[in-house]
Amino acid sequence: MAISDSLQATKNRIAAACVSAGRAPDAVRLLAVSKTFPASAVREAFAAGAQAFGENYVQEGLAKIEALIDLRSQLEWHLIGPLQSNKTRPVAEQFDWVHSVDRLKTAQRLSEQRPTGLPPLNVCLQINISGEASKSGLLPAEAVPLARQVATLPRLRLRGLMAIPEPGPEAAAQHRAMADLFDALKAEGLAVDTLSLGMSADLEAAIAAGSTMVRVGTAVFGTR
Ligand SMILES: *Cc1c(COP(=O)(O)O)cnc(C)c1O
Repeated sequence: MAISDSLQATKNRIAAACVSAGRAPDAVRLLAVSKTFPASAVREAFAAGAQAFGENYVQEGLAKIEALIDLRSQLEWHLIGPLQSNKTRPVAEQFDWVHSVDRLKTAQRLSEQRPTGLPPLNVCLQINISGEASKSGLLPAEAVPLARQVATLPRLRLRGLMAIPEPGPEAAAQHRAMADLFDALKAEGLAVDTLSLGMSADLEAAIAAGSTMVRVGTAVFGTR
């Protein structure tokens, strides 16, 4: 399938899921996950109407940002993969969003390194909602305290939470737990607007639970 067709099919899935959930059709943003696909595929998706792109690996993302520098002002680049605190500088300088902040030190460095000529870097805290030891992210109980600290950093804008639920029978409970945690941040008075939840396989369930941004790779670009 051409990227324009799979992008449209994905947008249709999102719109249908919003209708089923009784949510506004524009309540959920699509982040097209372009990891492992070449810059030419991003260009094609952009021509078909995608604007926000997600990358997992810092070096690969930086190479694509550079290759598509002619479109820079029209694209939004999101880092969704793990970020080590000693690799923050090029991310602070080149990306628009980071979804995978899971410690204060990383957040502090991103804030210090964000150039003053750019708007604040948008960040989400990654939550290890499945509790698997192999997964990155904060424990749910750590989310509110870290969110309070991150919200004070001058060159960051705390947007919300991200998670990668475990596929299978536990997924629905994990989607709900993320929605509850997102509500808990709002109840703290934090001005968060983004619940980054849902991928190709579970975007309908994530939208039903309250996701505001789905990160979709395979369904847009094809199998990796
Ligand atoms: C790869 C990836 C996605 C996209 O997954 P698909 O199943 O291809 O839609 C979303 N989020 C993260 C963090 C990823 O690493």
